[in-house]
Amino acid sequence: MLKPISLLLSLPLLTWSTIASSQDFDQTPNWPLCGHISEAPPTGWVDTDGCPKERWGRSDYTDLPLSSTFGPRQKASSGYRYDYHRGIDIPTPIGTPIFAIADGIVKIAGNHSAYSDPLIQIRHYRPGYSSCKNVGCYYSNYLHLNSWIVSVKQRVNKGELIGYTGVSNSGFAHLHLEIRNSPSFDYYSVWQRDAIHPLHVLPYSDTSVPSISFDAVNTSIPNSPVVQVTVTTPRLDVTGIVLLIYDEAYQLVNQPGNISDALGYKVNPTWFDMDIWNFQYTHKNSSRFPWESFGECPYHDEHGSNYEPNVHLDEQAPDDSHVGLFNGVKIAPARYNARTTNYSLSLTFNELNGPAQCIEAYVFLAAGKTASEQWGDCSALK
Ligand SMILES: [Zn+2]
Repeated sequence: MLKPISLLLSLPLLTWSTIASSQDFDQTPNWPLCGHISEAPPTGWVDTDGCPKERWGRSDYTDLPLSSTFGPRQKASSGYRYDYHRGIDIPTPIGTPIFAIADGIVKIAGNHSAYSDPLIQIRHYRPGYSSCKNVGCYYSNYLHLNSWIVSVKQRVNKGELIGYTGVSNSGFAHLHLEIRNSPSFDYYSVWQRDAIHPLHVLPYSDTSVPSISFDAVNTSIPNSPVVQVTVTTPRLDVTGIVLLIYDEAYQLVNQPGNISDALGYKVNPTWFDMDIWNFQYTHKNSSRFPWESFGECPYHDEHGSNYEPNVHLDEQAPDDSHVGLFNGVKIAPARYNARTTNYSLSLTFNELNGPAQCIEAYVFLAAGKTASEQWGDCSALK
């Protein structure tokens, strides 16, 4: 019998519920493009925005499917290396109208040295706040724009036309949408490490249950089991996978836990969380962030010559077990593109404590739901 336990609740999973009911930020933002399948036109929408009313509610005019979702992915454009994608990609013809997903203030409109292509960045306050100070803020980034019609410091409403889509420098016509979430201890931060899964925010209607498979469980060294799990689903909002390991007495086996390792990182090798992974392992030049105190990334010597510090997940050498091995979790490239029907993510958990009589794998979804699967003899699990 599977049961939610306090361990799961105690994990520092980032959830959208923390920003419910904002005066400035709607907790049900709309999709950024014209014509999401399940939506009516947003408030503020007008005919002259260039998004005909006929598009709304039609399956042939939709923001879906995405061509890439948030998290580790293979990059066809880079010879199938993999990177960490910090947004979602919505393929769309150049010149498609873009709407603000929620009320906010424009911080960037056009070119910016930190971004490869023109973008619009909108800042959204947290619920009940009118400043980022001490609490942080949310930001939405709309990237690879063809043109923009708003300017810096302009206040925009949810659903307001802000610009038009363009093409990335790789030649792919799409909108890259990001949500960044600055932490309270670094409240003006809006770095890549602050990016969270956008499907925490956007309405997402797929309610199907992902399939979870235990591909390999090696218990030949009983106190150091190695567990490979694959999640396969048509959904694109997988945000994390957590293992619970039980011994012969069906007691939870104590794992290294949510404590700092020798390098100052909070390491718990039984979980992989997209948002937390990005937050911990993306470089940031800030005295508030551990990378700076180390001087360099602790894995730096193991990176190949083509390593990109803001990617920090580079499989130039796919047989090198150190590459992509973080928190004791080896992340295989997620396989997905617009022409496949399933998203597939394989993780190998390397630094576990055993023995393992029974293992439960929980999959977290941005919609707030979970799915689970068991391995071994879990019959006596209470
Ligand atoms: Zn993208």
